[in-house]
Amino acid sequence: MKNITLILLGAGSASRFKLPPKKQWIWSGEKPLWLQVADNFQTIHSFKETVIVSSKDDIQSMRNFAEYKFVEGGGSRQESLKNALESVSTPFVLVSDIARCCLDKEMINRVILAKKSKGCVVPTLKVVDTIYFKGSPIDREESKIIQTPQLSCTATLKKALLIDIEFTDDSSAIASQDGDIIFVEGSVQAHKLTVVEDLSKLPCLKKPSSKALIGFGIDIHPFEDGKQMMLCGVEIDSPFGFKAHSDGDVAIHAVIDALLGASGLGDIGEFYPDTSDEYRGVDSTELLKDTVIRLNNFGYIIGNIDLTIIAQTPKLLNYKKAMRFNLAKLLNLKPNLVNIKATTAEKLGWIGRKEGVAVEAVTTLYYYDWIQA
Ligand code: MG
Repeated sequence: MKNITLILLGAGSASRFKLPPKKQWIWSGEKPLWLQVADNFQTIHSFKETVIVSSKDDIQSMRNFAEYKFVEGGGSRQESLKNALESVSTPFVLVSDIARCCLDKEMINRVILAKKSKGCVVPTLKVVDTIYFKGSPIDREESKIIQTPQLSCTATLKKALLIDIEFTDDSSAIASQDGDIIFVEGSVQAHKLTVVEDLSKLPCLKKPSSKALIGFGIDIHPFEDGKQMMLCGVEIDSPFGFKAHSDGDVAIHAVIDALLGASGLGDIGEFYPDTSDEYRGVDSTELLKDTVIRLNNFGYIIGNIDLTIIAQTPKLLNYKKAMRFNLAKLLNLKPNLVNIKATTAEKLGWIGRKEGVAVEAVTTLYYYDWIQA
């Protein structure tokens, strides 16, 4: 019978990890770290359900990768765990920090096999160094280093977390309820990723795949009299602009969709809905900047971008250079990696009748190579 739920805690801001991607989004082969951890746990035990706790922003993107259950974290580890426990119905729960990314199958099986109602099973390491506490050495034989995953009785853990005390792990919460604490042998393999230097101590992390991801985006907007026309964030001299919920920068919108397309994260409407007041009249370059930050946080590097603007009017020849350089700045790319092409529709169809403009964009992304960092 499946009587254990797996909870993976990954909602921390990871502020001590000083690389462009968040540590949860370091890529191992073709998987982000958090997904590798979740998938590898499934090969060790058959859980009733797997719950991944993360930030709201991350969850929106994580949903595109796998059908695990995602729960929004709180302001602390304990709040995050409480949120996750709300939906847990199994008698036991195995809780692990997602940053403890290299799993030791035997250690996890030791934890699971030792389970006991009302108690908590904790993997521990022996202390090999001398430790001073407030100026005096303590008996290292009586000291232990505590690891995760820890297996707890769900009801006892839920009850313990109702108390107004901030526990740093599940075993201290269970101990406060007079639950049994069962120590089992931990594993040096279960090292936690906190700072960049830890990456070399985590042999389970593979080199990120070097394959290029290709994305395509298209956007169309009709003209609207009396509005400032914007293309690639550049003001275009024209008696009309673009009818839109935002500033109508049709070129930027196509670029955002190409970037989101390559990353597999969705489309512009999912991130910046045109039904939201927040984005009424918004400067589209702000949306692009936000997209670039999101991609960098999630371990993607932009390779290049190629844009075709299909317009009978206005004439864009004199703006192409300004558009290229502005877009390059917004994307943190060298200008030669941002190509802008303009063409007419030879007076055919709605573009030819000067009713609006269409833009197509193609882009490549790569995974951030943390090994070279
Ligand atoms: Mg648009």
